[in-house]
Amino acid sequence: MTSDTKAPNCLLCKRPLRHVGEDFVRKQIYQCDQCDYVMTPVATTEDASAQYDDPEYFDGWGCNMEFDYDRFEPAVHEQVQQYLDFIKKHTRGKLLLDVGTGSGLLPHLARQAGFEVEGTDLSKHVSENLPVKGGFPVHHGALEEITFRRKYDVITMLHVLEHTSDPLSTLMRAREILNDEGYVVVVVPNYQSIDTRIKNLLSKLKLKSRPYKHLALGHHNYVFSMKSLGLLGRAAGLQVIYRTTTQPAWRSSALYSLFERYQLATWCWIVYQKEVRLTPQ
Ligand SMILES: [Zn+2]
Repeated sequence: MTSDTKAPNCLLCKRPLRHVGEDFVRKQIYQCDQCDYVMTPVATTEDASAQYDDPEYFDGWGCNMEFDYDRFEPAVHEQVQQYLDFIKKHTRGKLLLDVGTGSGLLPHLARQAGFEVEGTDLSKHVSENLPVKGGFPVHHGALEEITFRRKYDVITMLHVLEHTSDPLSTLMRAREILNDEGYVVVVVPNYQSIDTRIKNLLSKLKLKSRPYKHLALGHHNYVFSMKSLGLLGRAAGLQVIYRTTTQPAWRSSALYSLFERYQLATWCWIVYQKEVRLTPQ
């Protein structure tokens, strides 16, 4: 499906989305100006599963499909360690579910740090092989489709929400399987990053050979900003308790620190909490 005539409605405010244009492979791009995100009409769940089922998907991300963590790129270890440090700093509780776990490096390191961990993944390869290698359970399928026997203190979705067909239902499902006062930690690309703004402008002015390639549509069905993440959380019954933008570990410099200061860096990092206990008056 590449050329829809009717614009889809916003999943948050329900208004029709504005058609922005199309990317270099003619993926249609729609935006909600009110809620501040872009999306492309979603591939079917079957298409997505097939894509992530392919073990080759993980090659080229500095990882490998044998879950041989010692052979992962040092930058990957550095990045995942940053996630873990962030989780330890901003959440409480030791029962952790890593949604879309992929290589499983995050739960692997979290387990070494004293967490009790589980994962989920759309990939059969991951859910069948990772438990043997990693020593923790991995549920197969989309979060909404899995039956869980327990609730969790911390649910992590690192580079996951932008891939889902319905991020709102994913967050609502996460809330359901959270303990009271549990946390959801989300990392996604930042639509309002300097990089994205510049590349959007170049694409609009037709100065890019492959317009809007940076949005990675097809892999990413949505590209969120801090504003849309806040609205999304609220709609799912989750409250934002911490937010920041960061550069990938392999792309940090003094200039980028400046971007981070003004929430213009490449990724949004956000911590939601299910219920925040009010401090006594
Ligand atoms: Zn909207």
